Amino acid sequence: MTAIVPILRDALTLPRKPRAEGPRDLVGLTREEMRDALVAAGTPENLARMRVGQIWQWIYHKGARDFDAMSNLSRDYRAQLAGTFAISRPEVVARQVSADGTRKYLLRIDGGSEVEAVYIPETDRGTLCISSQVGCTLTCSFCHTGTQRLVRNLTAGEIVGQILAARDDLAEWGKAPTDKRLISNIVLMGMGEPLYNFEAVRDAMRITMDNEGLSLSRRRITLSTSGVVPEIARVGSEIGCLLAISFHATTDAVRDQLVPINRKWNIAALLDACRAYPRLSNSERITFEYVMLKGINDSDADARRLVKLIAGIPAKINLIPFNPWPGAPYERSDPERIEAFATIVNRAGYASPVRTPRGEDIMAACGQLKSASERARRARAEARPGA
Ligand code: SAH
Ligand code: SF4
Repeated sequence: MTAIVPILRDALTLPRKPRAEGPRDLVGLTREEMRDALVAAGTPENLARMRVGQIWQWIYHKGARDFDAMSNLSRDYRAQLAGTFAISRPEVVARQVSADGTRKYLLRIDGGSEVEAVYIPETDRGTLCISSQVGCTLTCSFCHTGTQRLVRNLTAGEIVGQILAARDDLAEWGKAPTDKRLISNIVLMGMGEPLYNFEAVRDAMRITMDNEGLSLSRRRITLSTSGVVPEIARVGSEIGCLLAISFHATTDAVRDQLVPINRKWNIAALLDACRAYPRLSNSERITFEYVMLKGINDSDADARRLVKLIAGIPAKINLIPFNPWPGAPYERSDPERIEAFATIVNRAGYASPVRTPRGEDIMAACGQLKSASERARRARAEARPGA
């Protein structure tokens, strides 16, 4: 008896961002798009490329939020830009700081939807986890985001805007490229399936990697996918960042239940795409994420199957103790079980760090993200059955 699960609500039918009224936002435009927009607004063609570089540096190096600050542009030109364009950010609606220093931002984007981004400080790095969609069309059974009904793709500006908003909050502007960064790493592991919004994610990451953009190395960006196999090669060729795979099971029967996209592209197809990923080496390994669910996928036999399946792929296995959420149908594996699983993986030659849940007290941990408005909507619906 297999229920017909809405595995793939067609990404193409997602509501688009409502057409913005007013000035066009420059945040998130590719170099070419911004060049064309500047020319259309009267910038001489022979100067447009240089102007893009100048404006990018103001927006992405210095955090400028209006054109007045752009002191290397003439007063007249600044006024002309201000009349045509905007430099905007998602609005920070709420900011929570966990006892462990993790910061969770609830951000409101055009049209009133909300997404979350999470900043995780560690001793050797600071990672910002960003979202690629409002909600997610996929329905992984252990993931809170997957239960959210409202879904729309974020624009490139809204994706890069999450980084700008976090930098505002951390007062991280105007640093030299060699200075230590508070936000040194980006992970696309927030809400949404990044490979169902490929172009916007790609454009946002190109701005993130560009020297006149946010100047982060491609090796400091990790994109996590649940396994949209046909798009994986493009991550390598069009972005070039590191890849993480939400693997979570070692048989198709179990993965079909946990990660329903597996019914479309199974474990063998997924691993073929991983083997073909460019530049794989010991310094550029694929991260296999594996959520530890008590009694479901955490046996010694699972651990042994896992290392057999990924044999030959430069990889590390990130074991994620399940983060519970209200009504979740699973429990977290016991620490001893996680330890035993990790030991088997480790003995087979793979690093197997156990991801310490961060920001649990503020529901900021993996898979717990869900917009406050959506929580409120459900709470209301549950309080009034049939409403
Ligand atoms: N949609 C993408 C990226 C976002 S999910 C993907 O699925 O890869 C980021 C990671 O958190 C994924 O590995 C996901 O499987 C994991 N995750 C989701 N819910 C979780 C939960 N409740 N506990 C622990 N990890 C979870
Ligand atoms: Fe979507 Fe990833 Fe959650 Fe699955 S784990 S429902 S793909 S966000």
